[in-house]
Formats: sequence, structure tokens, C-alpha cells
Amino acid sequence: MKIYDYPSAEAENRIQAIVNRGLDAGAADYQNVAAIIGDVRTRGDEAVMEYTNRFDAPGMEISGLRVTDTEMEAARNFVSSEFLSALDTAASQIEAFHRRQVRNSWFTADRQGVVLGQLTNPVDAAGVYVPGAKGGTTPLVSSVLMGAIPAAIAGVSRVVMVTPPMEDGTINAHLLAAADRVGVTEIYKTGSAWAVAALAHGTKTIAPVDVIVGPGNIYVTLAKKIVSAFVGVDMIAGPSEILVVADETADPGFIAADLLSQAEHDPLSSAILVATSRELVQSVKSEVQHQLAGLSRKQIAEQSIEDFGAVFVVGDISAAMALSNRIAPEHLELQIRDPFAWLPLVKNAGAVFLGAYTPEPVGDYMAGPNHVLPTGGSARFSSALSVDCFVKQSSVVYYSKDAFEREADAIAGLAEIEGLSAHAASIRQRLKS
Ligand code: NAD
Repeated sequence: MKIYDYPSAEAENRIQAIVNRGLDAGAADYQNVAAIIGDVRTRGDEAVMEYTNRFDAPGMEISGLRVTDTEMEAARNFVSSEFLSALDTAASQIEAFHRRQVRNSWFTADRQGVVLGQLTNPVDAAGVYVPGAKGGTTPLVSSVLMGAIPAAIAGVSRVVMVTPPMEDGTINAHLLAAADRVGVTEIYKTGSAWAVAALAHGTKTIAPVDVIVGPGNIYVTLAKKIVSAFVGVDMIAGPSEILVVADETADPGFIAADLLSQAEHDPLSSAILVATSRELVQSVKSEVQHQLAGLSRKQIAEQSIEDFGAVFVVGDISAAMALSNRIAPEHLELQIRDPFAWLPLVKNAGAVFLGAYTPEPVGDYMAGPNHVLPTGGSARFSSALSVDCFVKQSSVVYYSKDAFEREADAIAGLAEIEGLSAHAASIRQRLKS
């Protein structure tokens, strides 16, 4: 891991490279993804199958695209009771957290003769993208829960899951069992940009949805950005990130493990340590080397640490918090003395984990909050996936005759200032009657 004093010119260059990684660097990727989306729009299922065959499952046929009831039944029978029990605990805790996010419609009659309000309604159909690395090596069961539970709580009646199939054209049974637990209504064995395009524009087999949510690699993230002209999308939930703020009281082994937990996601992931102690930094560095050796996804983690990892040494915790706010990480861990005392200084972060015994994976699976979070600095302006992503609000307005007459001249006057005489006439017409 490269070590930088902060502030310094070298640190600045590294920060820019990390924050702008992927999305900024990929003009060619952007064009490729746009071409894939255009292709799916024009050729529908045929294009979806071609890409699925080429990238993920060579022998799969269009008849196998949708997961059948028989496959669901087989998955339910395949998974262990221990898995189902852990799944149920996680799902219940995630449901409890997200139920608190529900917003009710409301009305007010504060002005005489006027009723105003806001109706909240769910979208009709939502697409949940569940990542699946090539070869089915990372079936992100937790992402099924995180995408589908808030949709169900919002009241969405059609929840469509897409995920890349394994080479034999099947989907990991644990993903299917998770989808079954949280009420997903349709599942398609297709992933990447072509799945996002199918959800946005629809094909003969996959009817379009109104909103697409869920994390994914650079191709999925770019696809969501492009189709957001046509459907709602949750956010830029791209390659994962962690930033650990640590003082001399932190455990270097814990920090190293947490940095690697995000680095193993993707070569484009980023793991950052911001520390006040040079001694701690050296210990974390050797722990990272030591722990890397035992990881099943060592190569990916190693590349991510090399390309987009960094250690910044700062003067004090205030400086660390200011740097963290600049980077706006997806996951922020505060492994410092009295972390609650520093919480008010957190301005930009997807999720905050306090103390030595709240490693980020607690939030990935069990705690309750959503693990689909903004990346690439977008925590400056966006939030975790929530029930809000699946609803929209309609304003409601009622005026009585008296209330109308009270405000009519002012309304017509404003319309005339804008040069919109038909607007003014719509008001004056009623004053005549
Ligand atoms: P994925 O489903 O996102 O990507 C795999 C798909 O991409 C497969 O269909 C594969 O064939 C396809 N693909 C491979 N090469 C391609 C190419 N050149 N062009 C187009 N498509 C191509 O699953 P993944 O790879 O495991 O990535 C998951 C990502 O999600 C990681 O980056 C991880 O960090 C991120 N993640 C983010 C969050 C968050 O909240 N931000 C949460 C969990 C995971």
C-alpha cells in the first residue's frame, strides 16, 4: 500500500485517481455499453441471448431465460436449514429497518378554502440487479435482500430480478432461495449491461420496469447511467469502497481485514486508510501483506490495493474527517477512541460503522440498513438504496371559489409578467362567471 502525507501534492494526485477511477476513465467502456443498449433496444431477446451466450452461459437458450417454478422448488430443497435460518434473521432485520422509511401521503388545510397534499404511490414494476461475477464465484445473496425488501415494503407489485447465469445456464440455488424469501415475482438469468437494457426498454420475454436498482460492476453502472433517461435508477452503486479513519488505539489486524474485505470485490474497488499514527500504518501494511496470502480472491484484492488503495497520514482526527468528507466514501469506518463523539463531523459517506466491533460486513449482511450505497464520490449528493427509490409523490391541490377569488388577481398578474396570456385567461375566465 502506498503511504502519503496529507496534505501534499502526491496525496492530491492519488485522491483524484481514486475518486475518478472507472467512470471517468472509461470513454471506450461507455461507448461499448451504449452500443449494447442500442442493440438490445433494436433486437430485443435475440441480442440479450447473444450477449448472455458470449459472456456467461454459452449453451443457454431463450427458453431458459426465465427461472421456472420447478427451478425454484429445486433451489428451496437444495439449500440448508442453517442457510435459511441466517437468511431469515437477515431479512427480518432488514425489513424492520426499512419499514421505518415508509412515508405516508399527507394533506393540510392551513389556508381557508384550500386543501393541499402529497400522495405517495409505489411504482408498478421494479428491476433488481443482483451481481454475479463470471463463473458464479460470488452469488451476492445479500444483494437480493437489499434490492427486493425495500421494493416489497414500498408496495411494488412486480419485482423483477436479473443476475448473470453460471456457465451451465443455471443460477446459484442460494440466490433463488433468497428471492423466494423476499417476494421477487420474476427472475431472469441474464446480467451486465444487456440485462439493464432489457429491463429499461423491454423485450418480448422481459417486460419493461419503471425503476432499476442494485449494485454492479463498471458495465452495469454505466448502463444504469445511460438508461436513466428512460427509467428511474437508484444511484451510482459501482465498485466498492472503504475508508477507515484510525487512531493509535485501533487494531492493525482488524483494519487490514476490513480494507481487504472491500478490495476483494473488484480490481476497481478502493480501500483507504486515514491514520494519525505512523506506527499503526506500518503494522497495517504488514498485516495486509500477511492476510492477502490466505484470501480466495487474492489476485483481485491485490490489484485493487495496488491500483486504488492508499494510506494517508494526517495530523489529527479533525483532518482525517475533513479528508473523508472530501472523498465521500461508500463505507466509512471510525476505528478511533470515542467514535460517537466524531459522528457530527461526518458529512459525506454512504454508511458509517462505529468502533472496533462493527466491521463493514456486519452492514453487508445483517445489521438492517441497506448495503447498496453510493460510490465514486456520489455520497456527496445521494443516499443508500431505500424505500424512497420505489415510490413517487404526486401533489394534490383544491381551491374553493372564495379561496380562488382571494388569490386570482395575484395569480393572473404573475402569469402576465411571464407573458403567458393563456395562463392569465384561465384565471380571469373564472372571475367573469
Ligand atoms: P456483475 O454482475 O456486476 O458483473 C458481471 C457481469 O459483467 C457478467 O454478466 C459478465 O459477463 C459481465 N461482463 C464481463 N466483462 C464484460 C465486458 N467487457 N462488457 C460487458 N459486460 C461484461 O458482478 P461482479 O463482476 O461480481 O461485480 C459486482 C460489483 O458490484 C463489484 O464491483 C462490487 O464492488 C460492486 N458492489 C457494489 C455495491 C455498492 O453498494 N456500491 C454493493 C455490492 C457490490
